Amino acid sequence: SIKKQGLVICPVRHKHLPPKLVSQMFIKFGKMPEVSPFSSKSHELFLFRSVLYPCHPGGFHLLPLGQRVLDKLIKIIDQEMEMIGAQKLSLTTLAPKAVWSQSGRWESTGAELFKLKDRDKKEYCLGPTHEELVTDMVRDLYLLKAAYPLKLYQITRKFRDEAHPRFGLLRGREFEMKDLYTFDRTLENARNTYDIVCNAYTEIFKRLDLKVIKAEAAVGNIGGSLSHEFHLESEVGEDRVYKCLQCGHVANAEVTGMNDEKKPFCSKCGSNKLQQLSCIEVGHSFLLGTKYSEVFKAAYNQEGVGKSWLEMGCYGLGVTRLLQAMVEVNCLETRLKWPKVVAPYQVCVIPQKEGFMSYDLFNDAHRLATELNNMDKLKGEVFMDDRIKRSIGQRLWDMKNLGIPYVVIVSSLDEGRMTGMYELQDVYKDQVYMLSECELI
Ligand code: ATP
Ligand code: MG
Ligand code: MG
Ligand code: MG
Repeated sequence: SIKKQGLVICPVRHKHLPPKLVSQMFIKFGKMPEVSPFSSKSHELFLFRSVLYPCHPGGFHLLPLGQRVLDKLIKIIDQEMEMIGAQKLSLTTLAPKAVWSQSGRWESTGAELFKLKDRDKKEYCLGPTHEELVTDMVRDLYLLKAAYPLKLYQITRKFRDEAHPRFGLLRGREFEMKDLYTFDRTLENARNTYDIVCNAYTEIFKRLDLKVIKAEAAVGNIGGSLSHEFHLESEVGEDRVYKCLQCGHVANAEVTGMNDEKKPFCSKCGSNKLQQLSCIEVGHSFLLGTKYSEVFKAAYNQEGVGKSWLEMGCYGLGVTRLLQAMVEVNCLETRLKWPKVVAPYQVCVIPQKEGFMSYDLFNDAHRLATELNNMDKLKGEVFMDDRIKRSIGQRLWDMKNLGIPYVVIVSSLDEGRMTGMYELQDVYKDQVYMLSECELI
């Protein structure tokens, strides 16, 4: 059997994984400024909690803590994409002008497009989205009927020369986006695919414990016939979303009717009883129809019937915007608060302060951190705050500020001997437990 063959596709490392030590990690524990020059809490926290480093307007270095969270977000997105049969790829970032001119968007996108030339003066833009390139490629593949619906996605850097980059990752000029493109043989199938993908989005937000608002949206420059946005409600959100108090319909203020300056009305039931919400747009879906497939001649060829243009959908999810938005809607004054499942680390072990400590206690803490770090459920999720010149209280404060969900304190001594009891702090629930090692592991 395959099992007996002992097939291991990606070899597992069996060696013990040592926990990282705070003294060696790329983290700076700084004070927040008393008067904040920053326009959003999450932006400020990210800068002062070693998540982000600012490089230029709208351009940031994502530091190791932030990168770990991003990787976890990507893992969740990949899993949900896998569940709906989407296939991951990466498209080139340099997009030839010729391809973008074909759709007319080289001109219509305006100043947001980053344009550049190669040594032969050939023009390109840095991809802000990829409807053109993906459709231009799919045309050449001549797929069988069974290949549809075709769902292709990537999670890559996108570039937009935003007029007002601000709020850190919420509006960058370069950012990570998950963009999915779907291809169907008929409009009816494409509508079905649209619902399946929107449900996958809902699933992603559910796993992150985020209250997402799905709103009818305007199709804008991308085009198409049906569109929805996924929003998180927040004061710093730049989108205005209306909720109809009569019929419950939710739509972006950009949608016709809702955008009537004098007296906006519900685009569904016509009522004027609207509640306005400020929201951060984290995702956007479009039923594109044949807008791009016609331009790029991407067709399905049915034997005996002939060619029909592929019915497309496109679905963006701002992964780095989401990374910050999910903190913006959850965080406390000085403390980062992540959806627990994507916190950069799950557990920090804090040994007793130097001077109060026998050598055994430090070793015991390190041994415990190693044990925890090698548990199946926690693999790689445990680190140790070895800054033993600092009090336990100071280090606990630092860990709470980083939003580490669990802290284990190794300090229990009775007449100089270890009691074998550990203090487990559930940071998010603000609860403390005294546990023996077997209760802990
Ligand atoms: P916005 O209205 O905020 O400018 P958009 O409607 O132009 O966003 P889309 O073209 O719909 O954005 O792109 C899909 C997703 O990419 C958005 O829903 C958002 O989450 C993300 N996104 C767009 N622009 C940025 C940006 N400048 N920085 C970070 N994420 C962005
Ligand atoms: Mg935009
Ligand atoms: Mg928008
Ligand atoms: Mg949008």
